Amino acid sequence: MQLLDGKSLSQKIEHNVQIETKDLRERTGIVPGLAVILVGQDPASAAYVNMKKKACDRVGFYSVTHEMPEDISQDAIENTITMMNNNPNINGILIQLPLPSQIDTTKILELVDPSKDVDGFHPYNVGRLTTGLDGFVPCTPLGVMELLSEYNIDIQGKNCVVVGASNIVGKPMAALLLNANATVEICHIFTDDLKKHTLNADILLVGVGVINLIKEDMVKEDIIIIDIGINRAESGKLVGDVDFENVSKKCSYITPVPGGVGPMTIAMLLSNTLKATKIYAATKESK
Ligand code: NAD
Repeated sequence: MQLLDGKSLSQKIEHNVQIETKDLRERTGIVPGLAVILVGQDPASAAYVNMKKKACDRVGFYSVTHEMPEDISQDAIENTITMMNNNPNINGILIQLPLPSQIDTTKILELVDPSKDVDGFHPYNVGRLTTGLDGFVPCTPLGVMELLSEYNIDIQGKNCVVVGASNIVGKPMAALLLNANATVEICHIFTDDLKKHTLNADILLVGVGVINLIKEDMVKEDIIIIDIGINRAESGKLVGDVDFENVSKKCSYITPVPGGVGPMTIAMLLSNTLKATKIYAATKESK
């Protein structure tokens, strides 16, 4: 069994982003800028935003967080997004989800300029992903693809089973695997007999949010497992969706939690923001 080390790969990617950022700044004077909207006091959301801000600082990006109270109005968030859409110093806009129940999240995500949509949640970018065109791809599944590629894991023709079908994890994960010529199954809360499906997997990708959902008897020998779940165990430890201790014995490769997919998500956010900035710089140069 070999661990897929997302921590060290993310550091390598960060280092490259840092070098490219310096080069871009010296050539054009442009510094990548990321704006984050954080609504409410959820400690997990605040912790994620803080990690993203620190990562921006490490690679030399400009970053700003718009903190808003839980009872904020739809109009106030929309006005802030419009302001950031029009701000040339902002190349990436990220809305930390979930938003409170009074907010129409779809409308908010649709307002983000698709060329600044570094989370890849705008329907324009979702459409480009499903048709196999270049665009912005959600950071977590993009990070998974980078990790598989780093370890030269062949995807073409493989049976890939994705458990979890959210718009930010499972669905874009499945689209990327399909674009890479895998045979893809998607399972979710209404899937009847999950085990029947997971036993088919050459590569199993799990992003659900249920501790120990995947057990030893649900996978075949030599399977490759990507555990995207992040859960807080009773002990306070961070764990994934896979019973790591017992399942890992059957794996050829598996991601640890923490240190697997999590750090890759942040690295991809940096990489997407740099990509948006480079496209902006190129259009500015050509004018
Ligand atoms: P979500 O709640 O939006 O979606 C969960 C999905 O799992 C749904 O499609 C649901 O149908 C499915 N599901 C729920 N219970 C199930 C069950 N018993 N069997 C099969 N499918 C089931 O969650 P999300 O935002 O997609 O996040 C999923 C997990 O991934 C969470 O643990 C989250 O913390 C984690 N996550 C990790 C990263 C990262 O960087 N590693 C990023 C985003 C989310």
